[in-house]
Amino acid sequence: MNILLLGSGGREHALAWKMRVSPLLENLYIAPGNAGTSLLGHNLDIDPEDFNGIKKAVLEHNINMVVVGPEVPLVKGVSDFFLNDSDLSKIPVIGPTSRGAQLEGSKEFAKQFMLQHKIPTAKYLAVTADTMDEGARFLKTLKAPYVLKADGLAAGKGVLILEDLDEALNELKMMLSGKFGKASDTVVIEEFLSGIELSVFVITDGHGYMVLPEAKDYKRIGEGDTGLNTGGMGAVSPVPFADEEFMKKVNDRIIRPTIDGLRSDGIEYKGFIFFGLISVNGDPYVIEYNVRMGDPETEVVIPRLQSDIVEIFKAVAAGALKSITPQIDSRTAVTVMMVSGGYPGSYEKGKNILGLDHVENSVVFHAGTTSSNGILTSGGRVLAVSSLGDSMDEALEKSYKNAENIKFDKKYYRKDIGFDLK
Ligand code: ATP
Repeated sequence: MNILLLGSGGREHALAWKMRVSPLLENLYIAPGNAGTSLLGHNLDIDPEDFNGIKKAVLEHNINMVVVGPEVPLVKGVSDFFLNDSDLSKIPVIGPTSRGAQLEGSKEFAKQFMLQHKIPTAKYLAVTADTMDEGARFLKTLKAPYVLKADGLAAGKGVLILEDLDEALNELKMMLSGKFGKASDTVVIEEFLSGIELSVFVITDGHGYMVLPEAKDYKRIGEGDTGLNTGGMGAVSPVPFADEEFMKKVNDRIIRPTIDGLRSDGIEYKGFIFFGLISVNGDPYVIEYNVRMGDPETEVVIPRLQSDIVEIFKAVAAGALKSITPQIDSRTAVTVMMVSGGYPGSYEKGKNILGLDHVENSVVFHAGTTSSNGILTSGGRVLAVSSLGDSMDEALEKSYKNAENIKFDKKYYRKDIGFDLK
């Protein structure tokens, strides 16, 4: 079959890499892709939010399935666009419709959903400019630190965690007067949960679901989890504290009620669900839902998945996921993200990347790269160096050796991925 994958990051390179080894795949197209995906399929210069451009490509290349990497096209309704177009309605899209994508697109929607289906999450109140006073009263009932979240998508920047009540009251006012544009017309005020975070990934056809390997990512730019937030500087899978007992709680209290809740709310959901969780004294709570895979978590989850991912996607489309038991590699996977110096602030692009031909015992997924007279950097996050090992240290040693040998001007990576799991 011919598949079109939407997106251009390390997540998409990892998905493309996995799809490429499936005997079910004939032609792979990636829109827009990066230098790494161009080695596995045909990159198409189409913006994933340009639905008419996608339609044209789908018809021109006889595409039989579309897999959506990032959240924005899902929230903007790419799946609905296919369902409602007579030329496209028979072509399955792996990714929820815009209603299901509200789990990520609106934090208020996600919180209401969890409340309604009794899924453990932090106490909250959603407020608008009209109900700001109620918000201020609610904030005063909470203990520091105070959590304020813009309701809509804000590229991972819409969450503020503040130590001081006056500062929180002031920020609430600023958010409600447009600090994050329309995304913060509604603000979710939350109780702060203290614990250790992890991400659990599921793919569902709306009835059955398959739990994929869990992962922990490292968001801060600096070692010891310090400095500014980034898109993610590395990840590890499995997560040692996510033992059988913990995962049973996750399944019983969170995953199953979510899948059942979607169905009982009449939301047909075919695609990935990313559960951002926090373990509070061994009990899991949902911090957030995402309606796609994580990046860089995909770069450790996919290397551990031994089953044919195209077969899984086909089963999702056919509503036959229950018939497949996934094969998971028991080894540890790590990924180390190599970034452009200066990221997540300003950084230069167009740096020559050398040493990719000499990588041994790791797989390098491209994130921000482009090819033009060699491979050049084209983004903040540049390459994810993923490795498997019998232990986390063994996997890390492989990734770090390769990260050292890959050269580009002002490269930077954290040397302590997994430090808190040792
Ligand atoms: P991203 O997409 O970057 O993961 P986001 O903007 O969708 O983030 P959240 O995941 O809801 O926002 O929050 C970002 C981070 O803030 C979380 O990963 C967590 O570290 C912290 N956080 C959010 N809510 C809480 C909470 N109630 N208690 C403690 N920490 C929280």
